[in-house]
Amino acid sequence: MALTIEQIGGIHLLEGADALARQRVAACSTRTLESGEVLIEPGPHNGCMYIVLSGELRVHLETLDQDPVALMGTGECVGELSMIDGSDRSAFAVAAGPVQVLEVDQSTFEELLTQSSRVNKNMMKLLAKRLRGGNDTLTSSRHLQAEYKRHASVDGLTGLHNRRWLDELLPRQLHRSARESRPLSVAMVDVDHFKRFNDNYGHQAGDFVLFVVGKVLQASVRPTDLIARYGGEEFTIVMPNTTCDGALVAAERVRETLAATALVMPDGGALPSVTISLGVAEAIAGVEAGAVISRADAALYDAKHAGRNRVHAATG
Ligand code: GH3
Ligand code: MG
Ligand code: MG
Repeated sequence: MALTIEQIGGIHLLEGADALARQRVAACSTRTLESGEVLIEPGPHNGCMYIVLSGELRVHLETLDQDPVALMGTGECVGELSMIDGSDRSAFAVAAGPVQVLEVDQSTFEELLTQSSRVNKNMMKLLAKRLRGGNDTLTSSRHLQAEYKRHASVDGLTGLHNRRWLDELLPRQLHRSARESRPLSVAMVDVDHFKRFNDNYGHQAGDFVLFVVGKVLQASVRPTDLIARYGGEEFTIVMPNTTCDGALVAAERVRETLAATALVMPDGGALPSVTISLGVAEAIAGVEAGAVISRADAALYDAKHAGRNRVHAATG
């Protein structure tokens, strides 16, 4: 099928090129794709590049399920990289609707590049654009990574930091306290008889309780204290610059505040209040984060065995 002057004029690679180059391209065969038809897939190349004459091609990287990374419209080309360096195809190009492309074979491509300095320059421009596009993709994936990292360190239910965040933070805080010769205390918090609460009022009510516990913790400790959901119905408070005595006072305040908090679900349904048990430990200079947590956990265990709804300090 003969190409129209307009179609030739719209090909970026031919911008400013002489009549000979245009004729050479005009003699290439055209191909029509139905919507969804795959033009290029990763793997060995077939010695052709394609110029879009009408419609759009979606470019996908690893799999077709992933979002496209680019759309190639009229006048743009795909598959030129493999023609230049002979490497395998690295992406998919799929028709986003009915598409017509021009098929440029290897020998035509090489002739065009060697005979027309204009085509050559246009190709360089196109490669520079691809390179910048790649940089943009990298930049946006760095944004995605930062966002992912935020998600990975925040607990979805309570909005508090999660265990993973605590695992990174606590060793750093301990190191800092030791360097500055300041105390640091940790409280482990566990909701009392929470299994029973879930069984009696349902998992959704249980989730609401965890959300409220998170809010109470945030509201009743100092802004410099750090809170994490340790897992399940357990929370951790890291209190920099705080001795065991100071931490006991803070823990008792948290316990009392929660016990006095009326639980009303967003739909207006009232729930009985819940209690927590807390175990407190002050870090001993030079100890590992795990050892401080263990000592606070042992104190929490004591608080549970002593009857729950109370605060215990680590011994020794
Ligand atoms: P104790 O006073 O000894 O701590 O008793 P407990 O029932 O609180 O402790 P146990 O470890 O037996 O049960 C913890 C319960 O917490 C069981 C589990 O289903 C519930 N739980 C853990 N994570 C979640 C959560 O995200 N949402 C809800 N609704 N429940 C949770
Ligand atoms: Mg527990
Ligand atoms: Mg519990």
